[in-house]
Amino acid sequence: MNTLLIDDDPLALKLLTRQLERVGCVGVLHCERAEEAMTLLKTRSEAIGLVFCDLQMPGIDGVEFVRHLAGIGYSGSLVLVSGEDGRILKAVAKLARAHRIHVLGMLQKPIKNEQLSEVLASHAARKVVPWRAAQGEFEPAELERAIAGDELVIHYQPKVALAGGALIGVESLVRWNHPQAGLVYPDRFITLAEDHGLIDALTLAVLAAALRQSRRWRDAGLDLQVAVNVSMDNLASLDLPDSVAQLASEIGVEPSRLVLEVTESRLMKDVRAPLDVLTRLRLKGVSLSIDDFGTGHSSLAQLRDIPFDELKLDRSFVHGAAGDTSLGAIIEATLAMARQLGMKTVAEGVEDQSDLDYLRAHGCDVAQGYFIARPMPGADLVGWRVAWESRRRELMAIAA
Ligand code: C2E
Ligand code: MG
Ligand code: MG
Repeated sequence: MNTLLIDDDPLALKLLTRQLERVGCVGVLHCERAEEAMTLLKTRSEAIGLVFCDLQMPGIDGVEFVRHLAGIGYSGSLVLVSGEDGRILKAVAKLARAHRIHVLGMLQKPIKNEQLSEVLASHAARKVVPWRAAQGEFEPAELERAIAGDELVIHYQPKVALAGGALIGVESLVRWNHPQAGLVYPDRFITLAEDHGLIDALTLAVLAAALRQSRRWRDAGLDLQVAVNVSMDNLASLDLPDSVAQLASEIGVEPSRLVLEVTESRLMKDVRAPLDVLTRLRLKGVSLSIDDFGTGHSSLAQLRDIPFDELKLDRSFVHGAAGDTSLGAIIEATLAMARQLGMKTVAEGVEDQSDLDYLRAHGCDVAQGYFIARPMPGADLVGWRVAWESRRRELMAIAA
């Protein structure tokens, strides 16, 4: 695999090439313009596994280059190089990761040999992933068949009370068990469903499966609140509240055991249908949660307008909050506001003990995250709960 360097400064290119060769890197290619690099990547994509890119360049700059890399589905690693302020480097790294590009490191000029060796060592340790298909990897007709057939699988992630640790509910997360691609995560097909008029069918399929599972748990003595994600596009159908109520009554689950988590991924242009649908769902006893709060369009305007009764703090604010003053300030302010509005608060993305302790100390109601449990098949939940019952005593430091 080759390494590609991009920097408008020929001297910097020469220097970095020499440094890389000195630490044992072979096959180093270089370009003075990002445009040139793009052409090279398009034609020799599978030959390039590592890219070093300078941020400040005339023509296409580092930020635009990252966007292009994402557009062609680049699956190698990226090292960002800059003489600029470290916060700019961090922001570009964040952007690249948001595009699902593997960022190996950020290097500030002048680059030290030790830093390079470190970056190359972690590059060598990374397992090579196959060239990922760019946009449009699945056909809408395929997804339509999957929804109608039995290719959708729901995994459930526990939600536990921060006071005491009791299991109080689960979130239903859809996966597509694709005959060739294997288990496919929702970020690879929800937008496809939204763009091709399949999201209503998908949501109803998930709802029905989750309600049936909830009924099975109740019959096994486990009374849980079941959350299902709904897309903003679902809220354009004025008959959604009736479909939900009918489904719940057919399956024999109280609407009050159901939570709908709403993520607003795009701006709500006309508020009439969503407001109508969400208010009627609340009248029928269904709980409404504002998901990914603090990101995208999940914002204060939605809190003002829509009768949400649960607020889910986005995971980007949660993990590491104990050691980060900006995150801490955002969480504390959000929890205080939710409390004043009489809303229940749920933190997602709880990844370690310090996240858990921090949230508990600040009065958040419910926690969800890998530290508690990964999403799992419905049949595994009863067994997980038995193990959790002993673990939670330790975690929550309560007398047994
Ligand atoms: P979400 O509703 O915010 O769901 C939480 C996501 O965070 C899930 O990803 C979950 O696996 C992941 N997660 C849970 N705990 C942790 C943690 O501790 N750390 C980290 N880093 N991540 C954690 P998943 O299953 O890939 O779902 C992604 C998104 O897809 C969901 O985000 C939701 O917006 C959407 N989605 C999932 N199922 C459905 C569905 O049935 N319908 C619709 N419309 N959207 C869905
Ligand atoms: Mg959710
Ligand atoms: Mg979320």
